Amino acid sequence: MSAAVLISVVVPVFNEETAIGPFVAAVQTVLNEAASGPAGPIDHEIVFVDDGSGDATAAAIRNAASDDPRVRGVLLSRNFGKEAAMTAGLAEAHGDAVIVMDVDLQDPPELVARMIDRWRAGAKVVAARRIDRSADSALKRLTAGWFYRLHNRISAIQIPENVGDFRLLDRAAVDAVNALPENRRFMKGLFAWIGFNTEFVDFRRPARETGESKFSGWRLWRFAVEGITSFSELPLVVWTYIGFTVSMLALGFAGWIIVKTLAFGIDTPGYASTLVVTLFLGGMQLLGIGVLGEYIARIYDEAKRRPPYVIAERIDGDARPVAGQTEKPAMVRPLPTGK
Ligand code: UDP
Ligand code: MG
Repeated sequence: MSAAVLISVVVPVFNEETAIGPFVAAVQTVLNEAASGPAGPIDHEIVFVDDGSGDATAAAIRNAASDDPRVRGVLLSRNFGKEAAMTAGLAEAHGDAVIVMDVDLQDPPELVARMIDRWRAGAKVVAARRIDRSADSALKRLTAGWFYRLHNRISAIQIPENVGDFRLLDRAAVDAVNALPENRRFMKGLFAWIGFNTEFVDFRRPARETGESKFSGWRLWRFAVEGITSFSELPLVVWTYIGFTVSMLALGFAGWIIVKTLAFGIDTPGYASTLVVTLFLGGMQLLGIGVLGEYIARIYDEAKRRPPYVIAERIDGDARPVAGQTEKPAMVRPLPTGK
């Protein structure tokens, strides 16, 4: 009989004390069912990454881990954001395949079985695609649509629309993501960047089972800026062309004024038009500087070479907490290559 494959389920959690228990029950039901299927045995582990919760999330993870040694916890030292939490989970997971999913059951556990089937059939990445997002607000759907269209227009790496973080990654894909050195991690983009043969499974996204969404308007806006500045240079280089076009227009306008002055003499032209042009150009310049600022902020952040997260504690399968940073560094980085 073939050896069992190990499936890791990586779950970033932030203030989700009520969601841990139901999540473990729901996912284990599906995994146990899949494990007894004809395709061969499956072992699993559930790796919760507590992203600096202020409620009893860590205690809930500890409980779940003491009930079942297949549940583990990685507690980050503060809230680093979902992207960093997923990064930590992928680095800590041991599985032959890793499934990243939200804890709130908006990513239906039933899909996990279908993902595993596709993976066994040869897919290296199986991403879940939402065919119905009516559980999300109309504004969120509209702005998300704009984001994907803009992003995919101006960057070489295409992010499939309506695909969230919920996906299965083969070990090879996980290793590829773990090897990426950047610490500002827009995971949807990184998942697309690594490539690999990707298949999709469709689902209707239900409403949150418990608790509330952590992503407000401002956070989503910053997330969108993060995505675009991570994967497109167009906002940075477009100013050359805008500047050139405006200069050409100004030159043409200057020529016209000279001709007009020679032909008709000087009149007292509009104060209003001068003001409009000045303000318009001033606004454009500030906008351009602002865009530069977004990129420089990213360079500044990357240049500091801080790890994307810090682990405060690991809760292992026997629920014996390991305090402090253990043998494994928060993130393995390639050594700097001297010039
Ligand atoms: N999450 C996290 N860190 C954060 C914010 C969210 O780990 O700073 C987790 C959260 O606990 C959940 C997942 O990311 O498991 C998705 O969050 P949420 O359901 O709030 O997002 P939405 O479904 O509204 O997009
Ligand atoms: Mg959610």
